[in-house]
Amino acid sequence: MSSTQVQASAQTLSVESFMAEIAQQNPAQPEFIQAVHEVAEKVIPFINANPKYLNARILRRMTEADRIIIFRISWQDDAGQVQVNRGYRVQFNNAIGPYKGGLRFDPSVNLGVLKFLGFEQIFKNALTTLPMGGAKGGSNFNPKGKSDAEVMRFCQAYMTELFRHIGHFVDVPAGDIGVGGREVSYLFGQYKRLTNEFTGSLTGKGLSFGGSAIRMEATGYGAVYFAKEMMAHRQMSMEGKVATVSGSGNVALYAAEKLVQLGAKVVTLSDRHGYIYDEQGLTLEKLAQINDIKTNQRRPLSDYAKAAGCEYVEGQRPWGVACDMAFPCATQNEISVEEAKTLLANGCQVVSEGANMPTVAEGAKLFEEAKIMYGPGKAANAGGVAISGIEMTQNSMRLSWTREEVDQKLQEIMASIHEQCVEYGDDGGTVNYVKGANIAGFVKVADTMLAYGVV
Ligand code: NDP
Repeated sequence: MSSTQVQASAQTLSVESFMAEIAQQNPAQPEFIQAVHEVAEKVIPFINANPKYLNARILRRMTEADRIIIFRISWQDDAGQVQVNRGYRVQFNNAIGPYKGGLRFDPSVNLGVLKFLGFEQIFKNALTTLPMGGAKGGSNFNPKGKSDAEVMRFCQAYMTELFRHIGHFVDVPAGDIGVGGREVSYLFGQYKRLTNEFTGSLTGKGLSFGGSAIRMEATGYGAVYFAKEMMAHRQMSMEGKVATVSGSGNVALYAAEKLVQLGAKVVTLSDRHGYIYDEQGLTLEKLAQINDIKTNQRRPLSDYAKAAGCEYVEGQRPWGVACDMAFPCATQNEISVEEAKTLLANGCQVVSEGANMPTVAEGAKLFEEAKIMYGPGKAANAGGVAISGIEMTQNSMRLSWTREEVDQKLQEIMASIHEQCVEYGDDGGTVNYVKGANIAGFVKVADTMLAYGVV
């Protein structure tokens, strides 16, 4: 009997049989399987209690991307050599709005990674309360060590194929790892040139050409606002609490900034080479210095450590440092099981994921079992895409809101995501945010898909 028949004839769906089919259909895509498994574990018991979703096979349909575009990118480096990269756009699900999700330029990019990110994005975007479907894209291009001119030529070559698949009513990409303000500007410039239109077809744009206030800060700020909501729910505040942050890119730096503004003590930041430890706590001035070194000068964190006389630990991640709150803001699977155990043993009570799926599955289980305040990425880092949605709204209305107005909206959206997690995440008196986020995101998209019939 095929797995299809097993599922169709069963009264209930089992996580094991469902995942067996996913694993068989998506070989060599461990990150995607990990992301689906997390959702399946939480959502399948809910589906079994609500047979309308079971009979329509909604979860199975959600795990199959609407379409995937893969293409060659040829470009010339400064020496005139021809370079070849692979470009992708995974348009996963547009049930509730145009496809929306970032672009990642990193040598580690492959189809499985982008499918995991696109799948997560479906649920995250639904939680924002805004009308956005889920997508992700990027390339195995490595922007590190490339000149501005090389990055520009690559971005133009990438967009020369991508432009025919996106648009403000179709699919609106944004930044992610390796794609910041510089890259979004090159991409948008090429899109505008090819289409001869000025529309909000990318977000994360510069303020002078349709960008939104706070977009750059939104993911990091949002992860901190989400932690604040989780703590307020347990009558706690972050004033005076010690925080470890990983990464020193877009998300990490603004998470650290907001933490400092809210009175927490941020003692670490990291990059691919190691982490810095500042026992006194990073100040806004120190963060500005780090931002200049990392973002403007594109130099490693060790250069800041040298200049500032700050402790630097080569080749390690910051999770061995004792803290009350941890903000993983670098990349997927950056907290191992051992590191999750260490965080718990050191008394960490809050983990708010600025990055996507930064905790390995078994580590996430430990956080859930310990009933700490554990905000998974699809809830905690949804602030970035939420303000991208707000950027799309401003572009459509042809006006721009102030920093204060957008920050207010960000706080309201993060509070609303928290409320949705509370509504669906009851775990015998405490809130399980993994359960809450997955079921709340699922219900919105699933109900819409049901309304469309079998499509
Ligand atoms: P950036 O490229 O701006 O920064 C990434 C940071 O993480 C850098 O400091 C980088 O180190 C570090 N890093 C990347 N890969 C690794 C690795 N394999 N091991 C150790 N450190 C690593 O990206 P963002 O800040 O935009 O993204 C960070 C995370 O947040 C990602 O998971 C992304 O998907 C997620 N996210 C981002 C959003 C956004 O709005 N930008 C929205 C929602 C989620 P180095 O400096 O050495 O390159």
